[in-house]
Amino acid sequence: ETHAAERDTAVFDLIQQEAERQRVGLELIASENFTSAAVREAVGSVLTNKYAEGYPGKRWYGGCEVVDQVELLAIERAKQLFGAAWANVQPHSGSSANIAVYGALLSEGDTVLGLDLAHGGHLTHGSPVNFSGMRYKIVGYQVDPETELIDMDKVRALALEHQPRMIIAGASAYSRIIDFAAFRAIADEVGAVLFADIAHIAGLVAAGLHPSPLPHAHVVATTTHKTLRGPRSGLLLSSDLEIAAKLDRAIFPGHQGGPLEHVIAGKAIAFGEALKPEFKAYSAQIIKNAQALAAEFQARGYRVVSGGTDNHLFVLDIRPQGLNGTKATKLLDANHITISKSTLPYDTEKILHGGGIRIGTPAVTTRGMVEEHMKTIADLIDRALKGEDVKAEVHAFAGGFYLP
Ligand code: PLP
Repeated sequence: ETHAAERDTAVFDLIQQEAERQRVGLELIASENFTSAAVREAVGSVLTNKYAEGYPGKRWYGGCEVVDQVELLAIERAKQLFGAAWANVQPHSGSSANIAVYGALLSEGDTVLGLDLAHGGHLTHGSPVNFSGMRYKIVGYQVDPETELIDMDKVRALALEHQPRMIIAGASAYSRIIDFAAFRAIADEVGAVLFADIAHIAGLVAAGLHPSPLPHAHVVATTTHKTLRGPRSGLLLSSDLEIAAKLDRAIFPGHQGGPLEHVIAGKAIAFGEALKPEFKAYSAQIIKNAQALAAEFQARGYRVVSGGTDNHLFVLDIRPQGLNGTKATKLLDANHITISKSTLPYDTEKILHGGGIRIGTPAVTTRGMVEEHMKTIADLIDRALKGEDVKAEVHAFAGGFYLP
C-alpha cells in the first residue's frame, strides 16, 4: 500500500506546512501545547476504526476486548493522576464534557452562577451565544475592579440572592489561584452543586502546583490538550459516585455516540506521561516562565492584569499602547508570534476586539525554553507591537529549539 502522503498531496502538503509553521513560530497561545510523538501515534492509529458505544464490559458492539483495555487504562491513570474515585474519558472535547455536566445535573431554565466571559470565563459558562446561555438562567460573577481577583464576597452575595442550582469555578483567562474550598462553602450554603472546570490548569493541578478541586467540587471537567499536554479532548472526574452515575449516562447515551478510542489511547499515554516526575518539573517551569515573562513586560511599561500570575498565563492590557486585541494579534501574526486576543475586566474596548492579549507559556516550555529566554520573547513582542519586522529573528530563535 502506498504511503498516505503519496495519495493525497493536497492534504499532506498542508500538514507539512503546518508542521513548519509550528517549528519556526513562537507559540504563546495559553491553551495550546505540543504533544509527544507517542500521543500523536496513538491518535493516528487503527483504533479509529473501532465502534465501542457503551462502557468497558458493557458495549453494544462486538470485538471490543482490546479497546476495553485501552479505555480502562485511561480511566485508571486519570483517577490516579487526580486522586479521583471516578473518571469518564469519553468526552470528545472540553465543551462536550461541560454539556454533559449541565445535562446530568440541571433542568433547562435552572440558574447557574459562573465567571463572566469578559472577566475570564468560558463560552460554556453562560455566554448568550452558547447552549449554556440559551438554555439556562445565567448569573455572572466578576473580579474586583481594583485587585482584578475573583471577588468571593460578591460570589457569595450573588449566590444568596439568586440561589443557583450550580456554581462554576474555573476560567479561560484568569492568572490567579482559584479557591475551590471557598467556592464549596458558598455552594453548601445555598444547596448548589459545585462544578470545577479546570480545562486550563489541569496539568498544574496534576503536578500539585495548583490546589486540587477534587476534595471540594462535586464534579470536575477538563480539556486534555492544554497544560495537560494530551490529545485534543475532554475528561470528567468526580469522587461522588451518585453524581458519577448520572454523568456516565449524560455522556452515553445522553449526548454522545461511539467514543473515540484512538483519542482515548492518546489520553492514556498523556496521563502516563503526566504521572512521571519530569512532568512536575515541566509544570513548575511553565509557571516560572509565565512569571518571568510577565515581569519582563512590566519592566517594559506594560500593565499585566492583576499585577502578575500564579499559573501558566497572564493578560496584558494593551490599551495604553494605543492597541486593541485585534490590532495586536495582527501585528504579532505577521511576525509568526501567536497569541490570542482577550477582553479585560471592565473593558472599554468593543468585545469583538478586546483591550488585551492573553499570553501563555505551556508550549514554549515544552520546547525547552527557560526564564532567560523570556527576555528575548518579551523583546520580540514589544518590538513587533511597535511595528518592527522581527519575523526573521523569530524564526532563527524559535527554530533552534527542540520540538517533539
Ligand atoms: N472550559 C474552559 C475553561 C476552557 O478554557 C475551554 C477551552 O478553551 C473549554 C472548556 C472547552 O474546551 P474545547 O475547546 O475542547 O471544547
